[in-house]
Amino acid sequence: MTARAKSKVKVGGLQFRIGYGWDSHEFKRNIPLKIGGVTLPHAKGLGGHSDGDVLLHALTDALLGAIAAPDIGSLFSPSNPRWKGAESAVFLEEALRRVTSAGYTVANVDSTLILAAPKIGPHAAAIREHLAELLRISTDAVGVKAKTPEGIGTENAAIAHVVVLLERKTSLRSQKKGRKEEK
Ligand SMILES: [Zn+2]
Repeated sequence: MTARAKSKVKVGGLQFRIGYGWDSHEFKRNIPLKIGGVTLPHAKGLGGHSDGDVLLHALTDALLGAIAAPDIGSLFSPSNPRWKGAESAVFLEEALRRVTSAGYTVANVDSTLILAAPKIGPHAAAIREHLAELLRISTDAVGVKAKTPEGIGTENAAIAHVVVLLERKTSLRSQKKGRKEEK
């Protein structure tokens, strides 16, 4: 094999893939606040695309990015009336479907929310549980942290950063081989 051929890594051949997603939405009065698929008690909610779930959008983009798929805005255009007020879990399901058909499973997820209010701490466990359920992984593989925006002037917005690690599914063939070796 030439050095050049060796340097070509087949996309599906990677054992692990990382993904990163970022999103921001503006707070608006008199709409429900949904973060990570959980409705939080607050006077304002997040406006914009679909139900404005900033964390699910960043997570969806992280999953799509990990397999180099088109991003959430390309797959679910904000200008398409079909997605107005839509449940963001629909976007996450599609990203997860693509991850699975690319031959990967989600190993773990970590996230940081940046918002002035409400406090996320009391709801972090519920958000982690809900994300774990949506991703079909264990709760201890989902991190949710929150910070207040200091000196960046984003008091009326919620920002989410998410990283994911995907792991290649064990193929049926290697599973069978493993079972044989165990005997
Ligand atoms: Zn969004």
